[in-house]
Amino acid sequence: MYYPRSTGEFQSWFATDADCLDYLDWLRWPEGFVCPECGHPGGWLVADGRYKCAACGKRTPVTAGTLFDRRRTPLAVWFAACWMFATAKDGVLRPGRDRLAGRVEVDETYIGGEEPGLRGGRARGKKALVGVAVEVREPRGYGRCRMEIVRDGSAASLHPFVTRHVEPGATVITDAWMGYHGLAGLGYAHRRRSQRAARARGEDPGALLPGVHRVASLAPRWLLGTHQGRVDDTHLQSYLNEFCFRFNRRRSRSRGLVFYRLLELAAGHDPVRYRDLVARPKPKAKPPAPPGQRGHPPSIERPRAARPWRVADLG
Ligand SMILES: [Zn+2]
Repeated sequence: MYYPRSTGEFQSWFATDADCLDYLDWLRWPEGFVCPECGHPGGWLVADGRYKCAACGKRTPVTAGTLFDRRRTPLAVWFAACWMFATAKDGVLRPGRDRLAGRVEVDETYIGGEEPGLRGGRARGKKALVGVAVEVREPRGYGRCRMEIVRDGSAASLHPFVTRHVEPGATVITDAWMGYHGLAGLGYAHRRRSQRAARARGEDPGALLPGVHRVASLAPRWLLGTHQGRVDDTHLQSYLNEFCFRFNRRRSRSRGLVFYRLLELAAGHDPVRYRDLVARPKPKAKPPAPPGQRGHPPSIERPRAARPWRVADLG
């Protein structure tokens, strides 16, 4: 099987409608074109992008008989929608319901400057201050993360960061920074870990919040590697979102497979038109109109929608 393993791969594979047609072509006829009209195996692509049967001469578009037949929306847009549907489990389908939960470490870090780093990062002169929140799993390991540019390290900036990204009732673990004072009043169980106390115990203060420390060191390395370190300030948030998207799906390699199954379904599915989705109401026997009300328009019945396929079909 042949499907993109990541969003980056998806984007490079399906940049144009021609790319998408090529993939559909392969999905439909992995052994080569077979004429749907006469069943003859073999034909050739002609200038209008259709296949011409070597036996009967009938021309068949690659999308004929698929869900994408006679579409008005560009194929690349359809493919992107399929990819989002298959991969963005929470983003597309359950917007706003995906705040972090359980035990969540929260901290800030500077990113984009010459010396990305977590601790001591409250110094000025570097690029962007970024709030970091990471779910901590028991007994070990990390769940999802969120990163967002914050204006400064004040409570007025950090409290909204926490409420936007962490579900109320969660345990929020921070250092003793005063910007986090008052989180308990916002509905969180707030655990504070003091750097000073850690230092006094001879422990590494950088290890106080291992989850955010990990994310805050991975993100700049990823930015450097993927974007050659050239991160425009105006796009930093998008890059951070992409990093979090990838981090949060680091274990779900099967997402591309869901996309493949979805397209396989679409390629094998009869084209669906709006009129197919909207079943025509059965004509009702008209009661005789009482005298004086003739010419009254018949009541319009609300058509019933039928679903062409279900999510469960994806297996
Ligand atoms: Zn034919």
